[in-house]
Amino acid sequence: MEPYELTIHELHEKLRSGELTSLDITASVFERIEAVEEEVHSYITLLKEDALESARKSDIEIRRGNMSQLTGIPIAVKDLLCTRGIKTTCGSHILEDFIPPYDATVIKKLKNAGAIFTGKTNMDEFAMGSSTETSYFGITKNPWDPERIPGGSSGGSAAAVAADECIASLGTDTGGSIRQPAALCGVVGLKPTYGRVSRFGLVAFASSLDQIGPMTKDVQDCAIMMNVIAGYDSNESTSVPAEVPDYESFLKRGIEGWTVGIPKEYFIEGMDPEVSSAVEKVIAFIEALGAKSCHISLPHTRYGVAAYYIVAPAEASSNLARYDGVKYGFRAAGSSNLMDMYKKSRSQGFGAEVKRRIMIGTYALSSGYYDAYYKKASQIRSLMKKDFDDAFKVCDVILTPTTPTPAFKIGEKTDDPLQMYLSDVFTLPANLAGIPGISIPCGYSEGGLPIGLQLLAGYFKEEKLLQAASAFEKQINLEKRRPLLHGI
Ligand code: GLN
Repeated sequence: MEPYELTIHELHEKLRSGELTSLDITASVFERIEAVEEEVHSYITLLKEDALESARKSDIEIRRGNMSQLTGIPIAVKDLLCTRGIKTTCGSHILEDFIPPYDATVIKKLKNAGAIFTGKTNMDEFAMGSSTETSYFGITKNPWDPERIPGGSSGGSAAAVAADECIASLGTDTGGSIRQPAALCGVVGLKPTYGRVSRFGLVAFASSLDQIGPMTKDVQDCAIMMNVIAGYDSNESTSVPAEVPDYESFLKRGIEGWTVGIPKEYFIEGMDPEVSSAVEKVIAFIEALGAKSCHISLPHTRYGVAAYYIVAPAEASSNLARYDGVKYGFRAAGSSNLMDMYKKSRSQGFGAEVKRRIMIGTYALSSGYYDAYYKKASQIRSLMKKDFDDAFKVCDVILTPTTPTPAFKIGEKTDDPLQMYLSDVFTLPANLAGIPGISIPCGYSEGGLPIGLQLLAGYFKEEKLLQAASAFEKQINLEKRRPLLHGI
């Protein structure tokens, strides 16, 4: 096995025993990147020299006995997170040359834990999308089938983990952008409770929905990453001062005596039969885990897509007002006056999907329409929250498919935004309600594409989510496969 194929916890043991150095691991990951990146295109910016330099420093620390579980481990970061002195493009032309003067809190935390940064990953422009096709920097391919999308918007982060171009990564999830690409690329992805992880230094898309979370090769790695990134941050007013448990300590406990809720609204017509059958197989395992399943109803699920596509664009239209060609980023040439400069910079700087969202959002917030749209959508959010509150009175976790279909073909949905929006139908309720959710691999389609399973838990119950995910992961015991890239 090459070092790049291993998990965080496996590499940690090898670093500790001296069998491998961080330099060995980092060099191995960059060899892998050099071999497959052209085919996958997971990254916008690669940080090879910095990474090798940090690896050498990590090795000194490790020899001194200073090590955390992430010391010396190569991690990739979505290009929506501010990194001091390193370009942070958000997948957009308008921020093509933006270099933040500070680090996001999660970046600081990873640095303090000794992680090595491999680079900034590709994404849908400003995280608006489900396929990574809206990036200004080109399309990321699904490592399992380069004719297909990796999901989005954290498609680069998911593909990089699946293709072994990093050991783990960070993504962000506003309506499913961690869980959906994790499902389509066959990796684990967790969206924490709103407020669990600091958003300081995360470029805002929809501030009441955005969360940062890990994308990893297995559930244990996900717990390790959560241990580092979770927690209160005085720089971020929506981060919550709740205690962070040691997530890893919950993994081996099993779920004996638990009740797993199966919501009927998540098993809908039009769903891919291979997805439903993979998920149904897992439902059949519940008893073997000493737990029981119960049918539940989340009756307002069907309003989720409509509510999300008011709230998210409305908040985006306000957040993106700051890109005006003045303060930072791209400024169009040849303007005759200030207004003209604003118009030209924004017209040329943003891509089509971002403009569509800004227009929808501005319309929804305009005077006279606010009550009809944003306020109504907020009311639906309250009802959806209540659905989940009621459900968690009778079950410990909820089990659903992560996506209605496996990865679709590149270009298949680009002309039909509604079809694209519908690929988040199972993930966005967790964002609207603020609860945590995780996607883990649960099978493959006949064509060899990964299929994901979603688990949801109550507010700040990430430990329950990870406990259940770990139990299911073990029970599913999915055959280990690796995507074939250039035949390697
Ligand atoms: N696909 C959804 C959207 O386009 C969600 C994106 C996200 O979670 N960042 O808005």
